[in-house]
Parts: sequence; C-alpha cells; structure tokens
Amino acid sequence: MRKPLVAGNWKMFKLIGEAVDTVNALKSQVADVTGIEIVVCPTFTALHPVAQALKGSNVAIGGQNIYPKENGAYTGEISPQMLLDAGCSWTIIGHSERRQYFKETDAFLNEKIKFALGAGLKVMFCIGETLEEREGGKMNDVLCRQVTHGLQGLSAAQFEQVSVAYEPVWAIGTGVTASPAQAEEAHAFVRSLLRDQFGADVAEGVRIQYGGSVKPDNAAELMAQPNVDGSLVGGASLKADSFAAIVKASLC
Ligand code: PEP
Repeated sequence: MRKPLVAGNWKMFKLIGEAVDTVNALKSQVADVTGIEIVVCPTFTALHPVAQALKGSNVAIGGQNIYPKENGAYTGEISPQMLLDAGCSWTIIGHSERRQYFKETDAFLNEKIKFALGAGLKVMFCIGETLEEREGGKMNDVLCRQVTHGLQGLSAAQFEQVSVAYEPVWAIGTGVTASPAQAEEAHAFVRSLLRDQFGADVAEGVRIQYGGSVKPDNAAELMAQPNVDGSLVGGASLKADSFAAIVKASLC
C-alpha cells in the first residue's frame, strides 16, 4: 500500500514572515491527519525559519532544486547538504519550469537525482508533456524518455526515496486540470515504464503524484484513481486553508 504524498511547491513566492505564518496555520489544520505524508517546499531563504516553525509537526520540508556538488565555486547554487542543514528531507528535481527556463536536460537531472539521494535527501522527480507534445501524439514518447534517462541507474533501494510527479505542462498554473481519466492513463503508463525498466517491486512501490491545477474541489476525484498516489500542488498550496483542504480530500 503506497502512502499518499501531498506536497506544496511555493515556487518563488512568499517572504520569510509570510511563509512562517502560512505553516503555522497549516500545521494546526492538519495536525490530526495521519496516513498522508505532507511536505512544503518554500523558497531557499524561508527554509530554515519554516523548518523551525514545523518542528514536531507532521509536515516535512523540501527544497525546490539542488546543484549536484557538496560545495565549491558554483555561484548562485545550493547543495543537498545545505538543504539538509536547513531542515529539509526532500527536494523537487526536474520541475518543468527548470526544464523550460533553465534548460535542464534529462542527463543533468539524472545526475542531480543521484547526488541528492547520495546525500540523504528524498526526491520528487517531475515529468510531463507539453500541450504540443500531447496533441502531436508524443506524450508516451516524452514520458518514456524522461523516465528512462532521468531515473537511469537507480537501485531498488534508491527508488524507496523517490516519488515521481506526473505534471502535464499544459495543466501547471493554467487552471486546466487533467481529468481523472487522463491522469490515471498517464500514471498507469508511467508505472508500466517503471515495471519494464526497473521491475515489478519498484513499480508497485514508487508513488506517482499528480500535479497541475490541483484544487480542493478536484483533489478527491484525482486521488481516487488507483495509480494516483498524491499530488504536487503549486498555486493552491500557497494558502493554508486550501492546502489543508487538499490534504484532507486526499484521505481515501
Ligand atoms: C506546480 O508548480 O508543480 C504546479 C502543479 O502548479 P499548479 O498547482 O499551480 O498548477
């Protein structure tokens, strides 16, 4: 049985004070929730204060990116060791905004995933097709390429620390959500790729989150799909009330 994972990606939003206020409100609203892993991924500057505010709660913290070096002359970058030091247990890797704006390739993402896991972080690895790719009938090819190259060389033990987030690019921040049937079709396909490439145990164990305009009113029907094991939430995670409502709607 896969434990659902519901994570909030705050992108480049919230100064420290607002971030701390949000998690203070969130932690009391989800304090009674068991059976769901809850994560928030604030901006780098807010990580440590948010981690302090969440101490002793059932909400974990993640970064939104890492650079695959422990330290060194890499101006503007951050290492997994620094995220761990700030209180993180997770990081997002391969978000479509990183792929699109920062030209991150599958091979580089594979290097990042391995380095983050080696340092002791858990990884939410994002994949997903653009609208053009979907309409051009290339969705399966794109997902296959991203899974094959992004996760290449991971051991079964490493997969226990990885969640795959299927985030169709056309659904991110657009208000257009994949229908439950579309999400299930893509998730089942991703799971079949994992089975073919890494074996049945890995495929059955890995959580596949859905991301793309998840809101309190569509979370339950997405989560009811057999291959949807949680969500990665952008806009609707910025407010404690709506993120808590998504967490609670994911209890099924
Ligand atoms: C995201 O940024 O990963 C995301 C899914 O955003 P939104 O929920 O706003 O579509």
